[in-house]
Amino acid sequence: MEGNALAQRRDVTVFYDERVLAHYPDSNMEFLPGRLDKRVRAILSGLNVQWKYPEHPGRMTAIMDLLAREPIPGVRIEPGKAATLDQLSRVHTTSFLDDIFSLRNKSAWLDVDTTAVSPGSVEAAEVAAGTAIAAVEAVIEGRTGSAFAVVRPPGHHAEPVRARGFCLFNNVAVAASHARDEMGCKRVLIVDWDAHHGNGTQDIFWADPDTVFFDIHRASPFYPGSGSLMDVGAGRGEGTTINVPMPAGAGDEAYLKAMREILVPAADYFKPDLVLVSAGFDAHWFDLALNVTYEGFAAMTGIVQQIADKHCNGQLVMVLEGGYNTESLSHGVHAALQVLAGGVPPEPKVCGIEAVEAAIEFHKGAFDPDNPD
Ligand SMILES: [Zn+2]
Repeated sequence: MEGNALAQRRDVTVFYDERVLAHYPDSNMEFLPGRLDKRVRAILSGLNVQWKYPEHPGRMTAIMDLLAREPIPGVRIEPGKAATLDQLSRVHTTSFLDDIFSLRNKSAWLDVDTTAVSPGSVEAAEVAAGTAIAAVEAVIEGRTGSAFAVVRPPGHHAEPVRARGFCLFNNVAVAASHARDEMGCKRVLIVDWDAHHGNGTQDIFWADPDTVFFDIHRASPFYPGSGSLMDVGAGRGEGTTINVPMPAGAGDEAYLKAMREILVPAADYFKPDLVLVSAGFDAHWFDLALNVTYEGFAAMTGIVQQIADKHCNGQLVMVLEGGYNTESLSHGVHAALQVLAGGVPPEPKVCGIEAVEAAIEFHKGAFDPDNPD
């Protein structure tokens, strides 16, 4: 990130709990037998490479190691906690939760898309959702300016009755529901800038007039294939779901335009009293689907921070979603944290323009016949 100009120091708490590292499905282990195991094994055996669970613990350690190596003044770290059954029940059905809890200490596939659990996964998922709650509580109780829950498994693909897309419980939805039911919040804005559409979050709040869901993502047929422009919610929630599908390769300029010209007016209209971000970093160009840069993530953070400042006394909580290249994931989180801590968000330029401007300066006059050089 360019420079480290500070507008005004703000305190930020990163919530991180090492129990989330215990979720690591290993296909060499024996999984619960059955049709799903046969189907997934058939898919994996057709691959030319040794399959490894893509959503792995190294994602967390990359983020926390970079933060230890390059600490940001104003950012402190606190442990998380496990979500309770009641807290999870606000967004997931009892039968789904019973099913997931029955998999404690086991290895099993949850979906043909290879989402799976290992012996430590159920507790990791409870801690991921509970840590998002801890972050919301700290912000609403005024113990920190903003917060970032560095958690896994991610959550935004998890539906009320289904785990998928490497997500078990919908962490951001559990946190939003907790804010509404226990913390006195009336209107929650969820901004999902992960590269993939947050189908689970959309589903959970589809008919909810008091939770606004804004999702910018790579368009179908990219996974999970949902999130069309026409999907705006239903019933009393009609108009509170906002999707902005993007073509492959879209970058900073398009993302910032969407946020400034769609998200900001929507926030002005709904006036949220809490802003949550499903912060995935897989829109970075290292993850090969879109073209967002670190400056882009920093500028997007600046926009959601302004929304929170304007409407809800700065109450802003980021909850980690995807991001699979550990280099861009860790640096993306770091860039966002710098802005949360009061760094001035940069204004990203279109990639290459700065280099061309320097080259123009360098070659200036070189091809001018009247130039004595
Ligand atoms: Zn994603």
